[in-house]
Amino acid sequence: MAREMKRILMTGAAGQIGSELAQALRRKHGSDNVLVTDVVRPPAALAEAGPFETVDVTDRAALDALVGRFEADTVYHLAALLSATGEKDPQRAWRVNMGGLHNVLEIARARGLVRVFSPSSIAVFGPTTPREMTPQDTVLAPTTIYGVTKVAGELLCDYYVLKYGLDVRGCRYPGIISHLTPPGGGTTDYAVAIFYEAVRRGRYACFLREDTRLPMMYMPDCLKCTLDLMEADVSRLRHHAGFNVTAMSFSAGELAAEIRKHVPAFEVRYEPDFRQAIADSWPASIDDSAARAEWDWRPDYDLAAMTVDMLDALRARRAAGALDA
Ligand code: NAD
Repeated sequence: MAREMKRILMTGAAGQIGSELAQALRRKHGSDNVLVTDVVRPPAALAEAGPFETVDVTDRAALDALVGRFEADTVYHLAALLSATGEKDPQRAWRVNMGGLHNVLEIARARGLVRVFSPSSIAVFGPTTPREMTPQDTVLAPTTIYGVTKVAGELLCDYYVLKYGLDVRGCRYPGIISHLTPPGGGTTDYAVAIFYEAVRRGRYACFLREDTRLPMMYMPDCLKCTLDLMEADVSRLRHHAGFNVTAMSFSAGELAAEIRKHVPAFEVRYEPDFRQAIADSWPASIDDSAARAEWDWRPDYDLAAMTVDMLDALRARRAAGALDA
């Protein structure tokens, strides 16, 4: 009989997604049952609200010792270098993304863990993939080191499912938009920064072109998506490590226009840099019908609803003096 899932170790918990996912998991399973780990210290609200340990995911012995000591039965593996950061140091991106994932899978296999979550990304796609309504099962030929590690990572996860019967799950997150922890060096980071600058200064210099359209998702949907996938009935899953998921697609210009409905004087300049080429190699929209069919995935937020929520949250922080200048 499968053990009940209740002792969770999370890697990369100080990051944009991990910091909010860890809080959601602590609310659900109890703070003492979620050990948050990272190479850096997470925000005080997380580090002080329950167990926290510093660990580098490339150090298998140290990570294994933590899993053992905490008696974790589930790992949420969020530690990674993202697309823009990865292009600046491809060797390190390979070490952290592949080495870290391999360590997590080996620890999970050897210790007989119940379940592992390992997120993938729309970065698995490349310039030869169909760009509109990108299918679930399609060409995976990325041109970034980040994408290469995400494709290899999905394959490795699926191999552990097939070879060892390890229950590994993951979805291809699109750009994730949130207002608690800043993003960590991805190509869709502009869609977060633009909100901060709209509230702080009323103007923003965007590092992508105005017509660059990418798939995106608001953080509450990202959390729902992750928790729902991890609780899905395994007998319904035909895919495991690389579910397409999306909530909306918009161009930088469309996002600016939506913000302008609430901040009429908002000005945006477009100054594309090296991240434009990465964005140009990714899909504009995603077909997530497999996730909808296999574990009932449905997003709640569209562009209009997300924009209202982001601006409300950032304006409240600014009024409280808690938004850095
Ligand atoms: P992030 O950069 O905000 O956080 C990643 C965390 O990993 C950081 O806190 C960092 O300190 C930690 N880390 C880096 N190297 C480490 C190491 N060697 N050992 C331990 N920790 C280390 O990233 P995120 O946005 O929270 O992403 C989490 C996961 O989701 C990643 O797998 C990422 O590829 C994936 N993802 C994110 C997005 C997005 O838009 N944010 C989109 C697609 C996929």
